[in-house]
Amino acid sequence: MKRDIKKLVSQMTLEEKAGLCSGLDAWNLKSIERLGIPSIMVSDGPHGLRKEDWKSKPGHYSSVPATCFPTAVGLASSWNRELVEKVGAALGEECQAEGISVLLGPGANIKRSPLCGRNFEYFSEDPYLSSEMAASHIKGVQSRGVGTSLKHFAANNQEHRRMSVDAVIDERTLREIYLASFEDAVKKAKPWTIMCSYNRVNGEFASENKYLLTDILRDEWGFDGIVVSDWGAVNERVPGLKAGLDLEMPSSHGTGDRKIVDAVRNGSLPEEVLDKAVERILNLIFKAVDNRKENASYDRKAHHQLAREVAAECMVLLKNKDGILPLKKKGTIAVIGEFAKRPRYQGGGSSHVNPTMLDDVYEEIRKAAGNDANVIYSQGYSLEKDETDETLLNEAKKAAIEADVAVIFAGLPEHYESEGYDRQHMKMPESHCTLIEEVAKVQPNVVVVLSNGSPVEMPWIDKAKAVLEAYLGGQAMGGAVADLLFGDANPSGKLAETFTEELSHNPSFLNFPGEGDRVEYREGIFVGYRYYDMKNIKPLFPFGYGLSYTTFEYSDLKISKGDINDTETVRVSVKVKNTGGIAGKEIVQLYVRDVESSVIRPEKELKGFEKVELKPGEEKTVVFELDKRAFAYYNTDTRDWHVETGEFEILIGKSSRDIVLRDKIFVNSSAAVKRTVHRNTLGGDLLEDPVLGPVFKEFIIKVMQEDQTTQQKPDDSFHSMPLSALKYIPLRAMVNFRSYGFTEERMYELIKILNDKLDEQ
Ligand code: BGC
Repeated sequence: MKRDIKKLVSQMTLEEKAGLCSGLDAWNLKSIERLGIPSIMVSDGPHGLRKEDWKSKPGHYSSVPATCFPTAVGLASSWNRELVEKVGAALGEECQAEGISVLLGPGANIKRSPLCGRNFEYFSEDPYLSSEMAASHIKGVQSRGVGTSLKHFAANNQEHRRMSVDAVIDERTLREIYLASFEDAVKKAKPWTIMCSYNRVNGEFASENKYLLTDILRDEWGFDGIVVSDWGAVNERVPGLKAGLDLEMPSSHGTGDRKIVDAVRNGSLPEEVLDKAVERILNLIFKAVDNRKENASYDRKAHHQLAREVAAECMVLLKNKDGILPLKKKGTIAVIGEFAKRPRYQGGGSSHVNPTMLDDVYEEIRKAAGNDANVIYSQGYSLEKDETDETLLNEAKKAAIEADVAVIFAGLPEHYESEGYDRQHMKMPESHCTLIEEVAKVQPNVVVVLSNGSPVEMPWIDKAKAVLEAYLGGQAMGGAVADLLFGDANPSGKLAETFTEELSHNPSFLNFPGEGDRVEYREGIFVGYRYYDMKNIKPLFPFGYGLSYTTFEYSDLKISKGDINDTETVRVSVKVKNTGGIAGKEIVQLYVRDVESSVIRPEKELKGFEKVELKPGEEKTVVFELDKRAFAYYNTDTRDWHVETGEFEILIGKSSRDIVLRDKIFVNSSAAVKRTVHRNTLGGDLLEDPVLGPVFKEFIIKVMQEDQTTQQKPDDSFHSMPLSALKYIPLRAMVNFRSYGFTEERMYELIKILNDKLDEQ
């Protein structure tokens, strides 16, 4: 329905306008009845709806039942855009059924450290993968007429002091890693809202950061929705509004509104700024109203089934020695570990969902195993304590001895990771590690199923024949695990983050979580595999890694053109064949490597991926389209993305550490970086320059010839002078070493000649 929003704004009083810029309460926006402006409701997010239900059950975790899908770390491990979009659509339907206009998510913060308590809610250590997954999530939810809130913008990469910490990040790193994770999601999927984060970024609160909220988000990326504060992220309301923060959540009980009114009255806040924010909020409200589906409902069972299929695609098979998996549906199977009865399937904090139903993992395994198998259970450890309970351990060993195979459920108990605090280490509870080690002593066939939201150290890895990383698999995790264990589904997830052998290998290790209220991202762009590649650190399991019950072969890498301008796109194709005996899905990864660069760049960067489903013996061609950004780095001088003319390698991998095909392409830059010669330009840089070098030499020789006092013979002396002598000498210092008559005047003459030469180009 078409409305005249500007007119509506003009009919509002100053107080009404200010009032609309903050919540009525925790979840609702204000209504203005006299003008027909209704209230809308927003709720968490991101992998399930958490609509609080205070009336019937007061308390943080009392929310209406909703489907709990795998959390973001799992969704990203599927590397499946369509699947994540499907999840988004289901979430959108549930929001419609509950009258929710905006779902608060997804979260696109980068996993800088494995310790961040909210890593389970974030997608990846890689900005391209993260942004693609976020875009799919957003598209899915919004396809059902429900908005999203891409969060937490920006650089909220730790929970420690999250409301006060200042993330100090150099511009290139911010652009290439932390903002890039949001950028494509904003541009491609157009979220209705963006949630600014709690922390400061380079000195300024995200909620007052004009550079982030207006210059980049709106002016550069073209975002036209509203910016909402994270809950309680507003520092000072008026500077926030000026910087581009439209809506304060939750209600500040009149405080923020009053400050806005006063600022307009005393002239320190132009009313147009307020009007603009109000206009955007009204646009959101009416967009929500126009998209509302009255009497909407959804099929709980169907969504549970979807959650099961999704979970199976999110889990990553990390190890499968002797092909122990899939398990045979016969003999005795010992299911060990309390997680099999009390599954860890979601994370703690604002994303905590009250599931519509919850799989009993043990029961699902029993059902899937069928009548010819005998499935026994042993608790193994107590979730109430970290230390080994000898009685439970002995019982578990007894069960393992009786069985043909032991499937141990282990990982991180709930209190190990959550919103609100970070982990201190990457270890699993002592009782879980001991259980695996001890059971392996009496039973050679050990399968470990992990439930955790972020990487763990695995000192026991050699003792287990198979490891299935189930992450936080959502309410249907049990069914999905059973499907994978018995081969009713084929694992097809790959890691969206690196698992290191130990925490100290992580690049942020020395600077996480910072000192007091300051955390410096000193590792710069070298986050995750970008660092391990360069440092040649062998990860426990690399980024992009995951096994299948079938095998794939790659061939025929083709690049559509061998030489392109960076304004063009290029097509890369590769054939993938299922060479094993069962159907499966493969995630084909494309990385780009800048062969030679004047700036420090990672060894390689992910720039494309496709998930492809193949029957046994089937072959398909996977196609990628690469544009300028696939080759560019962020140039902090020009403050723009820049491709350096030269050769690039296109790498096709099964993981970041398993590159199976490679070829080269030459990319020509369309935008020469503006260069100028100045008094501090180095002689060596000039000599090496194909254009300026000859001019420089000619000038110096001329100066020497003219200089009567020189002791050196004009011609050959300069040529015989070792280049290294001039290499690091700035022009101004050559004046000090004026054995050949290079005066300050002549220096400026030369600078002019060289700059004129550059201008001619
Ligand atoms: C979290 C957000 C969440 C909001 C509302 C905040 O504490 O950081 O992710 O959407 O609360 O629950």
